[in-house]
Amino acid sequence: MASNVSILFRLISSYLLIIVVVLLAGLYTIWNLSEFNRLIRVVSSYDTKMIQLSEECQELLYSANASERKFFVSGDETYMRQFKDIELALTGKLNELATLADTEKKRTLLEGIRATHRRYGGLFDEMAAQAGSRRIAADETARYRIEQDLIVADTGQSLRELTRISSDERDDKLREIEANSVRNADAILISLVVAVVLMIAISILNTQSISVPISRLREKTKAVARGDFGDPLDIASPPEIRELATAFNAMCDRLRELDQMKIDYISHLSHELRTPLTAIREASCMLEEGLFAEMPEKQRELQTLIREDCERLIRSVTRLLDFSMMESGIMPLTVQDAPLQPLVERNLQRFSAVAQRKRIEVQVAIPPDLPSIRMDTEKIEVVVENLLSNALKFTADGGRITVSARHRGDAGLVEVAVSDTGRGIPESGLKEVFEKFKRVDDGKGAVRGTGLGLAIVKHIIKAHGGRVWAESELGKGSTFTFSLPA
Ligand code: ADP
Repeated sequence: MASNVSILFRLISSYLLIIVVVLLAGLYTIWNLSEFNRLIRVVSSYDTKMIQLSEECQELLYSANASERKFFVSGDETYMRQFKDIELALTGKLNELATLADTEKKRTLLEGIRATHRRYGGLFDEMAAQAGSRRIAADETARYRIEQDLIVADTGQSLRELTRISSDERDDKLREIEANSVRNADAILISLVVAVVLMIAISILNTQSISVPISRLREKTKAVARGDFGDPLDIASPPEIRELATAFNAMCDRLRELDQMKIDYISHLSHELRTPLTAIREASCMLEEGLFAEMPEKQRELQTLIREDCERLIRSVTRLLDFSMMESGIMPLTVQDAPLQPLVERNLQRFSAVAQRKRIEVQVAIPPDLPSIRMDTEKIEVVVENLLSNALKFTADGGRITVSARHRGDAGLVEVAVSDTGRGIPESGLKEVFEKFKRVDDGKGAVRGTGLGLAIVKHIIKAHGGRVWAESELGKGSTFTFSLPA
C-alpha cells in the first residue's frame, strides 16, 4: 500500500496532519480563553458588584438606624426625613442586589433581608404615627426598640452573610480562572511538543523514504559508470523513483546491449580487415620469394587477388568513414533531377564480373517513360551499389537479381526495388537490418560485411525525404525497395 503513495501525496498529507494538530490546539486554546473571559466577566460584573452593594447596604442600614433613634429621642422631623431618604436608597440597593443574585442561596437570603427590612420600615411608620398623635408609654417604646434592634442585627447579619457568600464565590471563580490558565498553558505546551515531534518524525520518514532509494540509484549510477552493470535496481517505492529506476534499468539494458554489440563488432571488423590483409601479405610474400617465377599465369592471379583485396579494404574503410560523417550530420546533398536508368547501368557494369563468376542472372525492369528523380546522383549510386552488392553476396550461385522501378503518380514518387532469390531474412530481422552494425546471422557460417551498408542506405534515403523497407521470405529471396520524390 505504502509503495503506491507518491512523494507529493506523502508531503501534502504529512503537512496536513501537522496543520490539523496545530489547528486543534489553537481551537482548544480559543475555547479556553473564551471561558476565561466569561469567568472574569462574571467576577467583575456580578460578584464584586454584589460584595460592594451588600457592604453599602450594611452602612445604609446602620445610618437609617441612627437617624431613626435620633428622631424618636428628639422628635425632630429632619431625622425622620433623613431616615426616609436612607430607607429609599436602601430599598433601591436591595432591589439591585435582587437582580444580581445568581444562586438560589443568595436569592433566599435576599428575600429574608427584604422581608425584615419591610417589617423594619413598617414598625417605624406605625411608631412614628403614634408619636404624632399621643404620648407613647415607656414599655411600648422599649418593646419597639428591642424589636427594631433585633431586626437591624438580623438584617446586618444576613447582609454580612451575603458578602461572605459572594466573596467565597468570587474566590472560587478566581481559583477556577487560575486552574483554567494553567490548563491552557499545558495544552499549548503539549500541542507544541506533539507538533514538533510529529514534524520531526514525518520529516525523518519522508526524507528517509526519498533519500534511501535516491542514494541506491546514485550508487548504481556510479557502478554503471565504472562499467559494472550488475543486477537491475529493484526499488518498490515511492512510485516516482520506482519509475525512474525502471527507466534506469531499461537504459542499463540498452547500454549493456550496446557494449556487447561494440565488443562483437570490433571483433567482427578486425576479422573483416585482417582477412584481406593476410591474403595480401601471403600473396606478396609468394611474389617476393619468386615462388611462381616460371608461371606468369599464377603470378597474374596473385596480383589480381592483391588488387581485389585492396579494393575490398578501401570499400570497407570508405564505408566506415562515410557512416561516421553521416552520423555526425555532415552529408551535404547536391540534389538535381536525373534519370535512374544510367545510374543503374553503371552499377551493374561494376558488378558484372562477380555476377558472371556466380552465374547470377541480372534483370532490369525500368519503364522507358519513368520520370526523372530529384536526387543526389552520387549518393543514390551508393544506395544502389549497397543493395546490389548485398543481393550478390547473399544469393547463391545460379540465382537471379532484378532491379525494377515504377512511377506512383498519385503520391508523386518513384519506387526502386532490388530483388534477389537469395537466402532471405527472417521476419524478426526485417527492421533490424537497417540498424548500424546489425548483421542477421543465418547460422550457416559468416558472410563478410561491415554491418553498415543498409544503415548508410537508410541515412541517404531519409536525407532525400524518401523511405526504404525490406520484404523477404526465408530461403526464397528478399526485396529491398526505396522511394524518392519524382
Ligand atoms: P553488411 O555490410 O554486413 O552486409 P548491411 O547493413 O549491408 O551489412 O546488411 C546487414 C545485414 O542484413 C546483413 O548482414 C545480412 O544479414 C542482411 N541482408 C542484407 N541484404 C540482404 C539480402 N539481400 N539477402 C539476405 N540478407 C541480407
